[in-house]
Amino acid sequence: MTATPAEQTDADVLVFFGASGDLARKMIFPSLYGMVLHGELEVPVIGVAHSDWALEDLRDRARESVRATIDDVDEEVLDRLVGLLRYVDGDYREPATFEALKETVEDARRPVHYLAIPPSMFGTVIDGLAHVGLNKHARVVVEKPFGRDLASARELDGVVRRAFREESVFRIDHFLGKDEIMNLLYFRFANSFLEPVWNRDHIASVQVTIAEDFGVQGRGAFYETAGALRDVLENHMLQIVALLAMEPPAYQGYFAVHEAKANVFRAMRPLTRNDIVRGQFEGYRDEPGVARNSDVETYAAVRLFIDSWRWAGVPWYLRTGKHLPVTAHEIVVEFKRPPQALFDDAMMAQHPNHLRIRLQPDGEIALGARVKTPGEEFVGEQRELVVPTGSEASRGPYERLLGDALQGDRALFTSEESVEAAWHVVDGVLADHAPAIRYAPGTWGPTEADTLIGADGPWHDPVLKHHRSADDASRTAAQRKGK
Ligand code: NDP
Repeated sequence: MTATPAEQTDADVLVFFGASGDLARKMIFPSLYGMVLHGELEVPVIGVAHSDWALEDLRDRARESVRATIDDVDEEVLDRLVGLLRYVDGDYREPATFEALKETVEDARRPVHYLAIPPSMFGTVIDGLAHVGLNKHARVVVEKPFGRDLASARELDGVVRRAFREESVFRIDHFLGKDEIMNLLYFRFANSFLEPVWNRDHIASVQVTIAEDFGVQGRGAFYETAGALRDVLENHMLQIVALLAMEPPAYQGYFAVHEAKANVFRAMRPLTRNDIVRGQFEGYRDEPGVARNSDVETYAAVRLFIDSWRWAGVPWYLRTGKHLPVTAHEIVVEFKRPPQALFDDAMMAQHPNHLRIRLQPDGEIALGARVKTPGEEFVGEQRELVVPTGSEASRGPYERLLGDALQGDRALFTSEESVEAAWHVVDGVLADHAPAIRYAPGTWGPTEADTLIGADGPWHDPVLKHHRSADDASRTAAQRKGK
């Protein structure tokens, strides 16, 4: 479908619902500052919340947030950001809030409405905008989670589409705005050596770990409505899998990427209760806002299959959790072992070759291989060829994504089709699962996850240091098992 002129042109106002919230404070104001710094934000930014604030309170929040997160703030840039701010105080459930917003928007013709608000309010705000005509020639940026299961995602899509065309809907998964995630796509398709081995003939299994060494950080009430499956696995992790598993895009351009990713989601086999281990860190139930008998998972490990020609029979093991030993995002692709055991020693490593992609912290790509140790014997050791990929200069994901939304570029946003297909994968286990198993904070989660990975294991636990041997990861897994 061809975009209308309004969709192709730059926005002339950013309406920021949820400007007094947690996400705004932690990530959005610093991103807006970055956009001003890089000349990407010159239009008014209208905050809308119901904190009984005046404009000066919003300005104070912006200053405080930027100074708390960014070193060496350029005060002149911060003043420019603060100068762009406007504020509307009101309840989203009151039509008067949208009347007041319409007056504040004045004669702007191409608004972008950014909904950094509780998901329960998405529909209310969208209806409120439509009621006063602020959906016309406008775009809407919807924060994650888009729905809390397949049925509610479809319902929400119905609400959004009552007021906005699909071309004007920008569903955020901020992972997609990260440089390291974009590098997955680049690394796969800018190189020729990967493609011949990137399939079931050569790959034994794939592991993806998103580990956090912290807990719910005071957001227990929110986390009770989410859990690890909804908060991380259904969106961030399946997006990573889609980028790793997709076929080469048919042509140059992000819409070909969207299509290739959607095909992966379609081929994912829906999870069943035997494919998942859920965990909950000890102490979670004592967190403010958490039910004393909560069964919400703070850890999830799953085994996933992609029923496509390329990936038939290859298990994908995904795990994410809070209060794990480190904060790290890492992918490990295990290659099959050589067909013949020419050296006894080489068979000591079950999977002598792997590709490890560390997304965070300190991005790096490493190729694991066995090399002979000096001496007459044909014995070797596991080593890694490591290339650092991280860069201090990278823009934050929200800076990139909000900038794209202002320019009408949907490339790094998720389509409704992908959102629904991803929910379809996890929908069955959202309700049908065994109780969450307790694990001690600072460990790698329930040991039942080792049973899940079984002979395809052990799990590769990310090791946070620059120069590591490939044996380290396996060693930590072995230590965990008490070996
Ligand atoms: P918060 O609860 O901290 O903030 C919610 C915001 O919405 C506040 O500005 C609040 O205003 C406003 N609000 C809520 N209800 C109303 C209402 N009836 N009328 C007017 N204003 C209202 O939420 P978060 O910032 O944590 O999250 C916002 C969105 O971002 C969610 O969709 C979340 O899933 C997503 N997200 C959050 C992340 C985070 O780290 N916080 C990370 C990734 C995504 P007031 O304060 O004045 O009441």
